Amino acid sequence: MKYITEYRDPILAKHYVREIRRITTRSWNIMEVCGGQTHGLVKFGIMDILPKEISMIHGPGCPVCVTPLNLIDKAIYLAVDRSVTLCSFGDMLRVPGSDQSLLDAKAKGADVRILYSPLEAVQIAYANPEKEVVFFAVGFETTAPANALAVLQAAHLELDNFSILSSHVLVPPAIEAIMSDPDCKVDGFLGAGHVCSIMGTEEYLPIVAKYHVPIVVTGFEPIDLLQGILMVVSQLEAGTAKLENQYARIVKSAGNQAAQKAIDQVFEVTARNWRGIGNIPYSGYNIKQKHQKFDADKKFNVDLVPARESELCIAGQILKGLKKPHECPAFGKQCNPENPLGAPMVSSEGACAAYFHFSN
Ligand code: SF4
Repeated sequence: MKYITEYRDPILAKHYVREIRRITTRSWNIMEVCGGQTHGLVKFGIMDILPKEISMIHGPGCPVCVTPLNLIDKAIYLAVDRSVTLCSFGDMLRVPGSDQSLLDAKAKGADVRILYSPLEAVQIAYANPEKEVVFFAVGFETTAPANALAVLQAAHLELDNFSILSSHVLVPPAIEAIMSDPDCKVDGFLGAGHVCSIMGTEEYLPIVAKYHVPIVVTGFEPIDLLQGILMVVSQLEAGTAKLENQYARIVKSAGNQAAQKAIDQVFEVTARNWRGIGNIPYSGYNIKQKHQKFDADKKFNVDLVPARESELCIAGQILKGLKKPHECPAFGKQCNPENPLGAPMVSSEGACAAYFHFSN
C-alpha cells in the first residue's frame, strides 16, 4: 500500500495546492496530454481545488478516442465478413462503429475476443492454424513494444495466420499539432509519464524550444498531478520554458532502450489520421515492409466507404481542448456510457466518461 498512499498523502496535497495558489498571479491554461491524467484530475476533484486562474484543458491522450471510425469499421468488417478471430483490449470493443460496435458483432456470433496482451493473440493463432487471427493494436508509444514483440514472436513461430491492425499514435507530433493550431490556447503541458517511460524525454526538447512552452513529464496519482501543475505554473510565472521531469521515479531521459529497439525492429513512423483532429504527419506507426505479412491492412486489403460520425458528437473539439465534455449538448442526454455516441464516452480514459462518472 505504501506506493499508493504516499502519492495520495493529503498533507502533501494541501501543501502543493497552497503553493500553486501562492505563486499564481494570472490565468494559465495547462493541458494534460494523457487520458489517465484526465481521469485522475476529475476523479480526485483536483480541478475543484485549484485557483480559478488555472484552467486544465483535456488533451487527445486517449488512444481509443482518437482511433478513426473507419478503422473501427474495418475491424468489425474483418470479424463479421471475413470471419477472422478479432482480438483487442476491452475498451476498444465498446466503441461504436458506423453501424455497430465489435461487442455488438460478438453478440451476433462473430469471434471477437478481449485480451490483456497481444502475445495471447499469437498463442491463439499458433493453437488454431486454420483460423486467421487479427490483433487490433491501439495505443500510444506505451503499448507499441508489446505489439512489436507479438510480431517478432509470430515471425519466430513462422505463423501465416496472425496479423496486426495497427492504430498506433505518437504523442510529440500531437503536441506539435496542437501548438501550431491558430486557435491554440495552451500555455503549458503535463507530459504523459507512461509514454516517456518508454520513449524518454528528449524528443520534447525541440517543441519546448520552438514554442517556448513548458512541458513537465508527470505521473498519474494526485500528488504527481499537483506537483506537475505546480512545476508548470512556476515556469509560467517566471517566464521560462523548460522540459522538466516530475515522474523521475519511473521516467529516465533515454527511456527504455530495449523497448525502443523492439519498436524499431517492427514499426516505422508514418502519417496518421486522428479521430476528431485529422491527419498529423509523422504521428503513427505502420508495420515495416520486412514484416508486412503481419500487417492486417495489407493482408486483407480492405477499402471501406468513408465512415459516418454522429452529427451530435463534438469529440473533435473536446480532443483539441477547445470545449469541455459538459459543453456538448448530448452529454448525459443522448450520450452516456450505456449509449455512447463518441469514443470519449466509451473509453476508461475518455474525458466525457471521466466527467460523466466523477463530475457533478
Ligand atoms: S458527450 Fe458524447 S456526444 Fe458529446 S462529445 Fe462526448 S462522446 Fe461525443
